[in-house]
Amino acid sequence: MKNKLFFSAALSVIIGVTGLVQVADGQNRSILNEAQRVSGDRFTVTTRTPQGVRIHAVRRPSAAMLSAIDRGLTDLFAVARKNRYTRGLNHSDYTIYIANADRTRDAAGNYSPDIAIGSAQYAGSVYDQGGYIYAAGMIISNQPMAFLIAEHTGDVSRVADLVRFEGEHLVLYHNDRRRYHQTADHSQGGSHPILQ
Ligand SMILES: [Zn+2]
Repeated sequence: MKNKLFFSAALSVIIGVTGLVQVADGQNRSILNEAQRVSGDRFTVTTRTPQGVRIHAVRRPSAAMLSAIDRGLTDLFAVARKNRYTRGLNHSDYTIYIANADRTRDAAGNYSPDIAIGSAQYAGSVYDQGGYIYAAGMIISNQPMAFLIAEHTGDVSRVADLVRFEGEHLVLYHNDRRRYHQTADHSQGGSHPILQ
């Protein structure tokens, strides 16, 4: 009798854990779907940076790109600690989707691999290119933390900056919700870096 009780308790714990794993899987799948919907790309390559950032990409990213991602987050975490923030400051807390660039140069001719996304809240603003805008990066999910950037094949120094900048939104979301709401939508003004 005692054994049977123990067995059913153990079984319900196993079912409970399996349930959690399924919820996490479902969540990751819906984030992947959202990244694919926004970018129009398929992320067939999965890897990690040396520091443990989860990467989903359209093709295998260069080692230079992966280390630039690590560097951008390391810089972000340093400035976040200066602001006394403590949450979300591990590389392994982040998932980054690397999409195809929809342009590689900005209007001024500078190297600027960006993603075209539906303009929505930017309609009619200076960012609006006629139904879509070019974005260097875009938040896909606040929890778990995930964002989208474009593949860079040339100078990757820009990658570190834009990872730091996209990451700012997520760090603020988890540490300073008031400031997050003030700065989440750039069509309302404000730009990066937010944290000094
Ligand atoms: Zn931003």
